[in-house]
Amino acid sequence: MTDRRAELAENLAQVEERIAAACAAAGRARDEVTLIVVTKTYPASDVRLLAELGVRHVAENKDQEAAPKAAECADLPLTWHFVGQLQTNKVRSVAGYADLVQSVDRAKLVGALSTAAARAGRELGCLLQVALDAEAGGTGGRGGVAPDRVPEIADAIASAEGLRLGGVMTVAPLSGPYAGRQRAAFERLVEISSGLRTGHPAATMVSAGMSSDLEDAVAAGATHVRVGTAVLGVRTRLR
Ligand SMILES: *Cc1c(COP(=O)(O)O)cnc(C)c1O
Repeated sequence: MTDRRAELAENLAQVEERIAAACAAAGRARDEVTLIVVTKTYPASDVRLLAELGVRHVAENKDQEAAPKAAECADLPLTWHFVGQLQTNKVRSVAGYADLVQSVDRAKLVGALSTAAARAGRELGCLLQVALDAEAGGTGGRGGVAPDRVPEIADAIASAEGLRLGGVMTVAPLSGPYAGRQRAAFERLVEISSGLRTGHPAATMVSAGMSSDLEDAVAAGATHVRVGTAVLGVRTRLR
C-alpha cells in the first residue's frame, strides 16, 4: 500500500466508525446513511484510491476543477454529486458528468439544467439547497432558497424534462437563528423534507452534515453526509 492509500484507508475507517456510532445512537440502520466524499482540491489520483477503497459517491463544488477530474475517473464506478454554487453558463458542462446536482436554488437554474440534461440525453437528480439563514423569499449567503420557496422550486424541478427531484440539501448556516446550532438546523431541514414528501413522495434524500457535524446530521435524520476534510485531510487552498 502506498502511504497515501494507507492514510485514506485509515481516515475512511474512522469516518465509517463515526457514522456507524451515530446511527447506533440514533437507533437507525447503518444503511440508511450514505457517505459522499467531497474531493474538491484533491487530485484524480485520490479519487481513484477512494474508489479502490470502496467509496461509491464523490462530490465536487467547482466545474473547472470537477470536469477534468471526472473525465480522468470516467472508468470508475462512481456517482458524482455537484454541491457548489452553480452559474448557468457552467450547467452544460456539469450535466455532462454529474449524476446529481445538490445546489439547485432558483428557477432559472432549473430551466438551464433541464435543457442541458435533455441535450445530453441524461437524467439529472436534483436536490433543492435550502438556506436556513435566508429571509422569507430570499436566498442564503452561501446559496440556497429560503424554506418558504421550496414548494415552488420543487414543483419546477419535478415537472422539468430530464430532471428528477431527489430531495433537499443544506449547509449549516454561519449566521441567523441557526448559527452554531447544527442539530436544530438539520432537524429543521428534515421537517422541510417531510413537507416536501407529501407532494413528492420519491424525494427522500436529505443531504446534511460535513466532517465536523456529521453526528448531528445522522441524529436529525439525514440520508446523505458530505465529508471532505476528515477523509482527505485539511485543504490547503481556501474554499
Ligand atoms: C467542502 C464541502 C463539504 C465538506 O466539508 P468538510 O468540512 O471538508 O467535510 C460539504 N458540503 C459542501 C457543500 C462543501 O462545499
